[in-house]
Parts: sequence; C-alpha cells; structure tokens
Amino acid sequence: MERKSTVKAMTCHDLGGPCDHELRGETADEVIKAQDRHLKEAVDDSDTNHAAARRAMQGRWKHPKKSMDWYNATKKAFAALPDD
Ligand SMILES: [Zn+2]
Repeated sequence: MERKSTVKAMTCHDLGGPCDHELRGETADEVIKAQDRHLKEAVDDSDTNHAAARRAMQGRWKHPKKSMDWYNATKKAFAALPDD
C-alpha cells in the first residue's frame, strides 16, 4: 500500500507569531522551518509586529535544550491536527 503524504497546516499564530499566515508541511519540522522563513521575510520587510517572534525563534535555535518544551508542544499540536 502506498503511503500517502499528509500535509497539514498551522498558522503563524499557532507558532507564537502575530498573524494568521498559513504554514503547510508534512512534518512539524517543516512547519517550523516555514515559520522561521515567514518571520525572517516579515522582519526583512520591516514588519515590526513579527520582530519579537523572530527573536524568540532565533533564541530557540541557539538554545535547543531550553526550547524542547516549545518544540514538543508544537510537535504534539501538529500530530493532533486532522489530515488536510
Ligand atoms: Zn506571521
């Protein structure tokens, strides 16, 4: 049986950001990477609303151990989503 890929969507807001931008991916890691990109693009575009979330995300890359709770919660939330 062929394994079908399951793309799910979370929002910027779900990952601690300020807007409802939709992030899609097959895994929580993909969605987190999409959020990282989205935050960078928003801040590069001088969107100050995203600056705090961007700093928080950068802090997570620097302190992965401290961020495990956030990471696990995000993975759990992703897993609980219905397939798209
Ligand atoms: Zn956003």
